[in-house]
Amino acid sequence: MRESGKVPVTDPLQRVDASEAPGRADGSRRPEEAGRPKAARRQRQILPGATIGILGGGQLGRMLAHAGGRMGYRFVALDPSPDAPCGHVADLIVAPYGDREAARELARLVDVVTYEFENVDAGVATMLEAESYVPQGSRLLYTTQNRVREKRAVEAAGARVAPWAEVASLDGLRAAADRLGLPAVLKTAEGGYDGKGQRVLRHESDLEPAWAELSQAGCPLVLERFIEFEREISVIAARRPSGEVRVFPPAENVHVDNILHLSIAPARIDDRLRGEAERLAVSIAEALDVVGLLAVEMFVGRDGALYVNELAPRPHNSGHYTMEACRTSQFEQHIRAICDLPLGDTALLTPVVMVNVLGEHLPALTEWLRRPDEAAERLGVAPKVHLYGKAEARPKRKMGHVNVLASRTEDALAWIAQSNIWKG
Ligand code: AMP
Repeated sequence: MRESGKVPVTDPLQRVDASEAPGRADGSRRPEEAGRPKAARRQRQILPGATIGILGGGQLGRMLAHAGGRMGYRFVALDPSPDAPCGHVADLIVAPYGDREAARELARLVDVVTYEFENVDAGVATMLEAESYVPQGSRLLYTTQNRVREKRAVEAAGARVAPWAEVASLDGLRAAADRLGLPAVLKTAEGGYDGKGQRVLRHESDLEPAWAELSQAGCPLVLERFIEFEREISVIAARRPSGEVRVFPPAENVHVDNILHLSIAPARIDDRLRGEAERLAVSIAEALDVVGLLAVEMFVGRDGALYVNELAPRPHNSGHYTMEACRTSQFEQHIRAICDLPLGDTALLTPVVMVNVLGEHLPALTEWLRRPDEAAERLGVAPKVHLYGKAEARPKRKMGHVNVLASRTEDALAWIAQSNIWKG
C-alpha cells in the first residue's frame, strides 16, 4: 500500500480482514460474519490516478491495463517472464509467482491488487490480503483452484453440474464409473487447463491407463458423466463490493482440440435459456460473494438443461468479444468492479464472432493484414485484430484474437470460413 494521503480512496478505514483467508469452500459465511453486509468487509472506492497491481502479466493483464489505462489508472504486473505481454504497457516486476518478496514489492507499489489467473499460490494470496488491498479476497481463488470444491460451491448456489464423484483409487474409479456410466470424463481436480489433465473414458479398458496417467498429478481426481451437449455457452458476471451485479450476454463457444476457437455472440439459444443462463451466473456470483469478474462455462444439454462446467474468477477468453461488441468491455468492467465504481452497461451493440489466433495462425494472419480485404467488404464484416505482442509463436499458443463484427452471425462465420488463416 502507498502511505495515506497519496491514495485517492474514499474510505481508508476499511482494511481487508486477514482472517477472511481461505475458508468456506461452499461460499458460506463464518458465524462471526453473520449480520454484517457481506461485501462491506472489502468495500473501498479506488479512483483514477491510483495504481493497480496485477498478479500475472499475460494477455489478460495486458488488456486490463489497456482498459484501465484509458480510465487513468496506472499498472504494475508481476510475472516470471521479462517479455510478458502486460510488461509492454505497464511496469513489470520479473519474479516467479511464488516469490513472496516480489509479491510484497508489488503490494508496496500499488493501491489495489488483482490477478489474471486462478492458480495464485495460496501463501502469496494470503500475504497480499494481509499487506495490501485485494477486494476479490482469496476465498474464491481457494474454491476455484479445485474442481471438487468448485462443484460443491456451484451445487450449493442451486446450479446443476454433470453428475460427478471424487476418485481416490483405481477401485474407486471403477465404482464411480459403474454408478455414473460410460462415457465419462476423468479430470485432475487441480491444475488442468485447455483439456490438459483430463481423459474421456469410453470403455472399461480405458479406466486403468487413464488412472495410471492422471493419478501422477498427485492431486484428487474427479469423474464426471459425459454430457451430450447441444452447445457450450459461457456467461460473464461482474459484481462490485457494494453488491451490484451485471452480466454480459451469453457467448456460444466452439473448441478445437480443447482450445477455444470461436465465441459467438449472441449465443444461438432461445430467450428462456438465455434468461436462465444469466440468472445462474448471477446466483453463483452472489453465493460466492464474488468481487470482479466471474466467468461461468456451461453445457446446454440435449435434454435442454444447463450444466455448469467450470468457473473462472477473472477475465475470460470467451469474453473477448465484448471489446468492440458491447458498450462496456469485460476488462473495463473488471476494473470498475474491483475499484467499486458503478458497473457499465453490458448491452451487445452488434453480432460478433471472436476467433482465436494461435501460433500456427500467425503467419497467414500477418499476410492478410497487409492487403485490402475484399471478402470483408463483400460480406459487410469488420474484423478487429488484437495481438498480444508475444515474441515466440509456438503452435497452440494464444497469440491474439480477431473480433469479427457483422450485421448477421452467418456473415462473420462465412468470413472466417473463407479466410486462409484458420485452415488446417
Ligand atoms: P474443462 O477443462 O472442464 O473446461 O473441459 C474442457 C472441454 O472438455 C469442455 O469445454 C468440453 O468441451 C469437454 N468436456 C469437459 N467435461 C465434459 C463433460 N462432463 N461432458 C462432455 N464434455 C466435457
